[in-house]
Amino acid sequence: MSTAIHWFRRDLRLTDNTALNAAAAAHNRVIPAYILSAWKTHHRWTGPHRQKFLCDAIASLDTGLRRAGSSLVLRQGDAVESLVQLLKETNATAVYTNRDPDPYGRETERRLALALEKLGAKLHLYKDASLHERDEVLTGSKTPFRVFTPYSRAWGSLEKPAPGCSIHKLSPVPSEIKSLTLPTLDLWKITLDQGAVLPEAGEAQAQARLGKFLDNRIFNYANARDIPSLEGTSRISQDLRFGILSIREVFARVQERLKGATSEQRRSAQIFVSELCWREFYHQVLWFKPEVLSYEYSDAYRGLPWLQDPSSFAKWCEGQTGFPIVDAGMRQLRKTGFMHNRVRMIVAMFLTKDLHLDWRMGEQWFMQQLLDGEIAANNGGWQWSAGTGTDAAPYFRIQNPWTQSSRFDSEGEYIKRWVPELAGVPAARLHQPPAPGMRLAPGYPLPMLDHATERDVALATYKAHLKK
Ligand SMILES: Cc1cc2nc3c(=O)[nH]c(=O)nc-3n(C[C@H](O)[C@H](O)[C@H](O)COP(=O)(O)OP(=O)(O)OC[C@H]3O[C@@H](n4cnc5c(N)ncnc54)[C@H](O)[C@@H]3O)c2cc1C
Repeated sequence: MSTAIHWFRRDLRLTDNTALNAAAAAHNRVIPAYILSAWKTHHRWTGPHRQKFLCDAIASLDTGLRRAGSSLVLRQGDAVESLVQLLKETNATAVYTNRDPDPYGRETERRLALALEKLGAKLHLYKDASLHERDEVLTGSKTPFRVFTPYSRAWGSLEKPAPGCSIHKLSPVPSEIKSLTLPTLDLWKITLDQGAVLPEAGEAQAQARLGKFLDNRIFNYANARDIPSLEGTSRISQDLRFGILSIREVFARVQERLKGATSEQRRSAQIFVSELCWREFYHQVLWFKPEVLSYEYSDAYRGLPWLQDPSSFAKWCEGQTGFPIVDAGMRQLRKTGFMHNRVRMIVAMFLTKDLHLDWRMGEQWFMQQLLDGEIAANNGGWQWSAGTGTDAAPYFRIQNPWTQSSRFDSEGEYIKRWVPELAGVPAARLHQPPAPGMRLAPGYPLPMLDHATERDVALATYKAHLKK
């Protein structure tokens, strides 16, 4: 009997899983495995929201595997050592896994391939996390695109891979193969804040979220996606992050939904597809320039004099800046592990262009708090907002938090939902600085700075740096 290991990583599903399907087609027995990372080496990049969602997604995957006649083998520690050990225990001849676009995942793949080769076994890697990856989308001169618009044109012109089949039957894992019990947050000695509300994890739940979006919201996406008080977007980012949904299936179902759609409906759906393209654009940025995790994407912006002030950073993290839209976003993030995209941009610009704090501080806080925290998209979003990234209009794009909230939360519904102290304040007063020394409501802080002044400071700092 030929045995292979399928190593689950960012593909926690049995539906249309490229590497799992390949392993099942080529071997009589597939051992499904997940290796829990050592918390210590990853503390900078994760936190309780995402770990809790991961625990629930793993439990749901195990239930699905048991229904198919198998079960998940869980181990903890260094992935290469754990997989080599499991390979020896099961007499497997190969490990199958889907490629990880991030540099840590790639390094592990490199080490694993070498370790397996020494044992006469093979590592099989597949494209799965994106429709197009690595060097599939290049300029005419075979270099990576530096800005999104031409990338998206090239991306859009390529044929998209169709979804594959689902796994319904697997051989049982031999009883002598030991597995850890399903993980809980206790494993890492961390807890969720009291009252934190997270979406349910699992394939059925992710499919339901996608289905609800496709049923109606997709055709109003163009109008509603920027309004944070509405459920106008798909809310599938955590499902794509963990591969609980297949990107091929998402794309194919959007195309299916477009049959017979009006041109207005098509336009709305196309904007949604372009967000899926942003996701892959940032994957490719990280693929070609992994150093963006430490430095500014654009060389010209390296060495900017960012501040590190812990006291203003703490006010930002806690949602105590005195800017209602910023505080609402930061409190939504703390409570739910999610923040609306428009508000992510507002709070990120506030951190970098009003507080002049290092974008890496905000990037790290987001990675610890976000349920969908994904290093490529998060780094891309932060560098875009800091003006150091792939944006064609970089540093001089400075959003005014007061006018942003007036445009996108005119009735103050979103603000009042997350900042209850402001529930009784008339909407118009939420979108302008209060008179000097006057609080918007008892217990709510005064604005910690004057936006117009800090905007000028930011512009002068960027300009002086570029001149140097
Ligand atoms: C500072 C900052 C940090 C961010 N960090 C992350 C992150 O860690 N993980 C993450 O998935 N997204 C991140 N984003 C992008 C975006 O905010 C979220 O993807 C989106 O809010 C998720 O909600 P949704 O699923 O309803 O999105 P929808 O609007 O329904 O979009 C559909 C999908 O497209 C992808 N997507 C949408 N917008 C973007 C974008 N700008 N960049 C890359 N992919 C996108 C996501 O996978 C999303 O689920 C960040 C944006 C900013 C400005």
